[in-house]
Amino acid sequence: MTDIQQKLIATRRKFHRFPEVGFTEFITTYEIYKTLKPMDYTLYLGDDVLLRSARVGVPGKDAFLHSYKRAAEYGVPEEFLDYVKEGTTGVIATLDTGKPGPHFAARFDIDGLPITESADEDHIPEKGGFKSLHEGEMHACGHDGHITTGLFLAEYINAEKDNLKGRFTLIFQPAEESVRGAKSVVEKGWLDDVDYFFSGHLGIRNLPVGTVSAGTTDFLASSKFDVKFTGKSAHAGVEPDSGNNSLLAASAAALNLNAIARHGKGRTRINTGTLSAGSGRNVIADTAFMEIETRGETTELNHYMYNKAKTVIQAAADMYENEAEIIDMGEAPNAACSKELIETVKEAVKHNSKITDLKETLPLGASEDVTMMMERVLKKNGKATYMLFPFALKYGHHHPKFDLDESVLHVAVSTYIDIVNWLMKNG
Ligand SMILES: [Zn+2]
Ligand SMILES: [Zn+2]
Repeated sequence: MTDIQQKLIATRRKFHRFPEVGFTEFITTYEIYKTLKPMDYTLYLGDDVLLRSARVGVPGKDAFLHSYKRAAEYGVPEEFLDYVKEGTTGVIATLDTGKPGPHFAARFDIDGLPITESADEDHIPEKGGFKSLHEGEMHACGHDGHITTGLFLAEYINAEKDNLKGRFTLIFQPAEESVRGAKSVVEKGWLDDVDYFFSGHLGIRNLPVGTVSAGTTDFLASSKFDVKFTGKSAHAGVEPDSGNNSLLAASAAALNLNAIARHGKGRTRINTGTLSAGSGRNVIADTAFMEIETRGETTELNHYMYNKAKTVIQAAADMYENEAEIIDMGEAPNAACSKELIETVKEAVKHNSKITDLKETLPLGASEDVTMMMERVLKKNGKATYMLFPFALKYGHHHPKFDLDESVLHVAVSTYIDIVNWLMKNG
C-alpha cells in the first residue's frame, strides 16, 4: 500500500470514530479546522459559514448540550465551541492564488446519521477497532470519506498553489442528511460567483472500485416536513362531543395523503414516516404529530405533491376542527449536471490509472441537498457537476453494517486533483 493510501485510510478512520448528526458536528468541525489551519487558507466558521435563519431541521437544545459536553470532553477548546455550539457547524476554506483565473468550488458533507453501528465481528470497523465511539450515531453514508477527500484535495491545492491560478472555495457542509444544511450555506452567498462547482458521493452504485461517473442523473426533488395537529381534549365517555379529535384528524390526513392523484408528467413519492397522537385510552386526543416527506422527479413534481399534501392536511384539520401547523424540515430541488463540465471531467481524468471504467453519468435515485448549491451556481451562469465513486456495497447506505471500501478514497482524491490540474493550472 502506498503512503498516500495509508494516510487516507488513517484520516477516514479517525473521523469514522466520532460521527455527529447534522448541526452538532462540533468535534468534526474542530478536526477539519485543525487540519486546515497550518495551510494558507482563509478559514470561516460559525455564522460566517451559514445563515442561521435559513437552516431547517435544527435539533433541540438537549441534542446541542449532549454534543457540547462530549466535544468538551474530547478536548475541543471552549473558545472554539462558542463558534459552533448553537448549530452553526461546518468550515469553509478559501484560497486566492493572486493570479487571474476561474473560481473553483467543491463541497464535502460532514454529518453522520442517528444509527447505532453494528458490533458484529465481521464488520470491519469493529474488527479494526475504529467503530463509532458515539452510541446511536454513525457514519453510515460515507461522509467520513467525503471529509477525507476534501482535506486531501485541500492539501494538494495548498502545496501546488504557486502553479495554480484563480480562486478556490472548499465547503465542508453540515447536515446533509434529510437535506437540511445546504440551503443555509447558499443563502449566505457562498455559491454566487462560482465558475466551476464539483461535488460527489462515494458508493451509491454497487459497482467495482475504479468506476467513476463524471455526472449524475435522477436527483429526486424532495420536501421534508412535520405536522402538529392541535384539537381539544374531552372525556371520551361523558362528553366526546365537546372534544376536537387530533388523532382522527392526523389519521384522515395520513390515509388521504396516499390518495393524492399521481402526476402524469413523472415519478412522485409521498410517505408518512411517523404518526403519534393522544395521551390516554379514555381521553379524546388533543395533539398529534406526523413526519412526512414528498419527492418528485423534478422540482415542479415535488411541489405538486407538497402543495396537494398541504391541502389534504388542512382539510383533515378542518374536518375535525383542529389547527394544523406545518413545519418545514428540509428541502432539495432537482438539478441537472452541466454537460460541458461532464466533458471537462472526462478529459481531465483521461490518464488516471486508478479509473478503470469512466462513465458519463450514473443515476442517483435519491435526494441530495447539494442540488440547492448546483441550482444557485447554474442560475449565476456557473457550471456544476456531481460525480459518483462507486464500490461494491455489501450493505446499503444508512445500514448499521454499511462500510466504505477504503480503496475508493484514492480514486476520488485523484479525480479531484486531475480536475484541478486541468482547469486551474497556471500557464
Ligand atoms: Zn445519506
Ligand atoms: Zn450521503
